[in-house]
Amino acid sequence: VEHPVERPILAVDLGGTQIRAALITPDRAVHCRRAVPTQDEDGVATVVARISEVAAAVRDDAASEGLPPPFGVGISAPGPLDRLRGIVLDPPNLRGWKDVPIVERVEPAMGLPTILERDTNVAVMAEWRYGAARGVHDAVYVTVSTGIGGGIITDGRPLLGHAGLAGEVGHLVVELDGPVCGCGGIGHVEAIASGTAIEREAKRLLDEGDAPELARLAAEGASVDAALVARAAAAGDRASAALLERAWVAVGSLCASLVNLLTPEVIVIGGGIAEHHPSLFEVARREMARRALPGFAPGARIEPAALGADVSLIGLLPIVNERIGDASPTAASQQSPPATLAQGASTT
Ligand SMILES: [Zn+2]
Repeated sequence: VEHPVERPILAVDLGGTQIRAALITPDRAVHCRRAVPTQDEDGVATVVARISEVAAAVRDDAASEGLPPPFGVGISAPGPLDRLRGIVLDPPNLRGWKDVPIVERVEPAMGLPTILERDTNVAVMAEWRYGAARGVHDAVYVTVSTGIGGGIITDGRPLLGHAGLAGEVGHLVVELDGPVCGCGGIGHVEAIASGTAIEREAKRLLDEGDAPELARLAAEGASVDAALVARAAAAGDRASAALLERAWVAVGSLCASLVNLLTPEVIVIGGGIAEHHPSLFEVARREMARRALPGFAPGARIEPAALGADVSLIGLLPIVNERIGDASPTAASQQSPPATLAQGASTT
């Protein structure tokens, strides 16, 4: 069943490096894009003011171009967050952010109803409604970039879990005695396959003198990251190739666990690391087939994300339309329309 989206929205994506905003019309077109550096070192109040400023600038641009006005604002932000109360809790990539009531600040500044949603829930909505997971009932979105995150659609609706916190696929254990994760846990897939983890392991290889080609490239002044490790591997550096192979095997193991647990028809993998390393898909497909329950893997496809960086803007179109009903906020939160993110953790 299609859920028609009728009203234009103002979408804001709060990221660790950039704040992006645009007007999204019901035909899914992205208008009047703007982006400014987040600069979290300026402090929470300044960054929150910056969000309202960039959103207001997009609204002004849209008005001067004769575009229809937005009826509401959606903010996509990194978790953990309290989506229903509109509070950004304690995201690792926004320094100094702790329990920031972002909706309470942006809503009056814009004079428009405003909602907050976790970036990965926004991304899975975009890929499910408009992208690589279109038309299925069960899908998982995995982003492999600086960290690893995800969002889940099950039985044709988002899986939100208690307090709306479900979907942290990056923190599934794939190695009992593995490395310590950024979250403090042990052996999480993010601690093995994220950009941060690959960088950490590459620096360890350099310290131990185990990767001559990587050392040569690093000595030329290139920054030590996943891209450099891939260049070294392509030039025959065995330790670099093994490092990447292990990371992609971890992603494939994650996919096998997701298949065993949720039986998705599609696992969409996006994020900067996935986008720039096609070998991730090859290895992840092979390992999912090896490691999932017999008969389970053939029912699941691993697909690259289709919508790129715009997932976090476009996904807000259905979410804002569905979460901000035309009734009062209280009435809206008591409805339970199918296949929406309108329903979150009920605290009543
Ligand atoms: Zn973790």
